Amino acid sequence: MQLLLTLTACVAIGLGTLLLVNNRPLTAGVAYSLALLCAVLFPIIRTTANLKCWAKRILSLVFTLILLETIDATSSQVAWCWLMLIPTLSYLLLGRTCGLQFTLFFLSIGLTLFAWQARSFENMNAAYVANIALCTLTVWGIIHIYEFKRQKMKEQLQELAAKDPLTGLLNRLHLTKVVDQLQDKGAPESSFSLLLLDLDHFKAINDQFGHMNGDQVLVHVASVIRRSIRHSDWAFRVGGEEFCLILPATSRSGAVKVAESLRGCLQRSPCITREHTIPVTLSIGIAHWPLDGSYLQALYHNADQRLYQAKATGRNCVVAGPSALTATAA
Ligand code: GH3
Ligand code: MG
Ligand code: MG
Repeated sequence: MQLLLTLTACVAIGLGTLLLVNNRPLTAGVAYSLALLCAVLFPIIRTTANLKCWAKRILSLVFTLILLETIDATSSQVAWCWLMLIPTLSYLLLGRTCGLQFTLFFLSIGLTLFAWQARSFENMNAAYVANIALCTLTVWGIIHIYEFKRQKMKEQLQELAAKDPLTGLLNRLHLTKVVDQLQDKGAPESSFSLLLLDLDHFKAINDQFGHMNGDQVLVHVASVIRRSIRHSDWAFRVGGEEFCLILPATSRSGAVKVAESLRGCLQRSPCITREHTIPVTLSIGIAHWPLDGSYLQALYHNADQRLYQAKATGRNCVVAGPSALTATAA
């Protein structure tokens, strides 16, 4: 990007000087403004949070320059082919939505001016005008479809990267992002609880019913989890038969209620496959932010310790407190 800015600034300065010599101060002014904008952006391009805003400013100047240059009577008729840069640069630098708006605005002005100017060209015929206009619109169409597909593919890849393929729950990678988001809010009501869930004796389920049925149990547990949490809660599959829940704006006692309800719900609803009815239970360890740790690793460690205690207490129970833990056995 810095190389591109340097190149743009150099071309703009060269063009500006040429335009001044040719007594065209307005267009020269736009060219020099473009060079200045590139120079201002150069040192901050890596750190600025408003890259899109900068791109809009630069593109506005570039397109104004193209329009001023092309409507100039002394310019060659071929200068109109620069209009094709409008959709290409807009979509490339601004994405689909903003790129479409920029293209619509500048290209409609450009093509109108072109059609109006074309009347005064010598040896001008309708085929020439139609060719330039059609070619520009085709470039726009192609770049729009390309950007639409690229965006869709990006969203699909992001979804694939964030989700566990078996259960459809989010995976461990996404956990850090969610916790960071909640912590960034910083307000007291943004406190949250983290629950670690581990299926009891899952190895025995696999051994008794087979791995495929084991997978079905995991899918069943995920659907019970989905039904038991609020819309604003987050559910992750963080290991083979381990799940994690993040409950925003939920106190420790609130989290215990959710955990107990989920534990009871799973106990009452075994996984029914074509051949078997498989009873399944889970143990839960709870940690609360910020009481049990200020960052994810500390929270996770505490919840894991409590999960370990829940297993030691006899499984199928919830452990939430710091010392004399609230272990609620079934
Ligand atoms: P505990 O109550 O102490 O948690 O015992 P456990 O048997 O649930 O725990 P353990 O860690 O001994 O066994 C976990 C098992 O989960 C072993 C592994 O084969 C199985 N597992 C891990 N990932 C999958 C998976 O994707 N599908 C199936 N079917 N089984 C899995
Ligand atoms: Mg485990
Ligand atoms: Mg287990």
